Amino acid sequence: MNNIEIKARAKINLALDVCRRLENGYHEVKMIMQMVDIYDELRYQKRSDSQITLKVDSQDDLGDITNNLIYKAAKLMQDTYGIECGVDIYLNKNIPVAAGMAGGSTDAAATMLAINELFELGISKEELMEKSVKLGADVPYCIMGGTALAEGIGERLTPLPSPPQASLLVVKPPIMVPTKWVYETLRANELEHHPDVDGMIKALQDKDLTGITSRMENVMETVTEREYPIISEIKTMMKSKGALNSIMSGSGPSIFGVFDSQKQAMDACDFVKSRLENKNIRAQIFVTDFFN
Ligand code: ATP
Repeated sequence: MNNIEIKARAKINLALDVCRRLENGYHEVKMIMQMVDIYDELRYQKRSDSQITLKVDSQDDLGDITNNLIYKAAKLMQDTYGIECGVDIYLNKNIPVAAGMAGGSTDAAATMLAINELFELGISKEELMEKSVKLGADVPYCIMGGTALAEGIGERLTPLPSPPQASLLVVKPPIMVPTKWVYETLRANELEHHPDVDGMIKALQDKDLTGITSRMENVMETVTEREYPIISEIKTMMKSKGALNSIMSGSGPSIFGVFDSQKQAMDACDFVKSRLENKNIRAQIFVTDFFN
């Protein structure tokens, strides 16, 4: 095998709780992660020398290549498993960048999986997940995929049953929300209300879509909505067009709504698009599905 193509899918958080701030500055979280069918396309080609190259096709500037998580993941595989050959990597970026959708983490996960196959290393997913924590707390989940409970700093994973079929509208407004600022402003130890994550797990087991959507909550919104009113405006737009519920994903600023049917999600998409265009706001918008 000389080359391989792979799709790296984004995630949303159906629920996101920050339980407490730890002594070391990290935060203990409890999140329900869900993969969605929005993806980056990646192609890997073996090289005869040991170099790793990366070509990016993206509307956003992803900065220096050696800082890219794809490069770091390829280097990690090379160093850990003593691979002598290098690889040329091509990325077609579709996942919104710095959006709370784990775009970088899923590219890193895809790279570890692709190199495992390309060089026929035969390493188990479990081992790759273990090694991948070095690259970021979300990378093990991105290797696993599907629906999962993430605890600890996000790296402790328990697979969960997939939600029933539904359509999603995902909107990324053109604002930058620094994750570090969200955590610092949150005051996790003083939060009075926490999402009903255990109730959502039960609703997933029961395949109860409204049981799931009625428990969708993200504690980080308490910080971001205050500073960026567009986040709650987009949620209200989605709900007014029939979303069962709508919340922000991760530390934002992406917002998603869950709809019973694709027709409803498409109608809501047109509505949100035109409302944002009237305000001269250019957002990235996707109609998609859960991916399990
Ligand atoms: P998370 O949900 O895990 O917090 P995110 O969706 O908020 O992630 P990313 O899209 O992963 O954020 O990007 C965060 C930063 O990582 C960007 O500012 C970008 O410069 C850098 N980065 C490194 N590698 C990548 C990559 N392959 N794709 C996107 N961003 C990358």
